[in-house]
Amino acid sequence: MNGQLLNDKALVVFSGGQDSTTCMFYALKHFKEVELVTFNYGQRHALEIEVAERIAQDQQLTHHVLDMSLLAQLAPNALTDHTMAITAENDIPNTFVPARNLLFMSFAGALAYQIGARHIITGVCETDFSGYPDCRDIFIKSLNVTLNLSMDKDFVIHTPLMWLDKTETWALADSLGQLEYVRNNTLTCYEGIIADGCGTCPSCLLRNNGLNAYMKERETK
Ligand SMILES: [Zn+2]
Repeated sequence: MNGQLLNDKALVVFSGGQDSTTCMFYALKHFKEVELVTFNYGQRHALEIEVAERIAQDQQLTHHVLDMSLLAQLAPNALTDHTMAITAENDIPNTFVPARNLLFMSFAGALAYQIGARHIITGVCETDFSGYPDCRDIFIKSLNVTLNLSMDKDFVIHTPLMWLDKTETWALADSLGQLEYVRNNTLTCYEGIIADGCGTCPSCLLRNNGLNAYMKERETK
């Protein structure tokens, strides 16, 4: 690497949801310096960006918000077209933007280069695999090689949630001392309701089932 020094700076791909907020705390534990990047692609709820900003401010972290509104040109579907209902066809939710994570992670890589961060943290998860091929472990490993070759760097992509289910993700937040913070300040609900959410959308069901299972587990310890 031509004498290039490694550093302890990490960039967290951050949406203000449970998973990426847990990743942020993971990064704060393991790296000296942490910055956040959020992609603005015309989410159903502009609130997502606000929530992400609020959490970044709480933690006094540098927060980069990148405009990815061009994605709407590629996939006018339920995620960006607010008039469409969210449904799942052939096991792939119609919120699917082809190669969305590839695009996001490539931008994260370019930003990591600019800010001098060697480590990139993402909350993608193969256990709760919802049909996104570019969230699989094999893809992330492949992309890590590609990013390194594309910029002649030795980035390390970390995926602390890759093999965790939602119960275990809550356990991780708890082990970092942040279960209550994650529970009360993050947004995962499709209806745009912070914390425990609407309780009925697919995202809330996944989140709350995991939380209930973990709380039960914790009580019996
Ligand atoms: Zn919900």
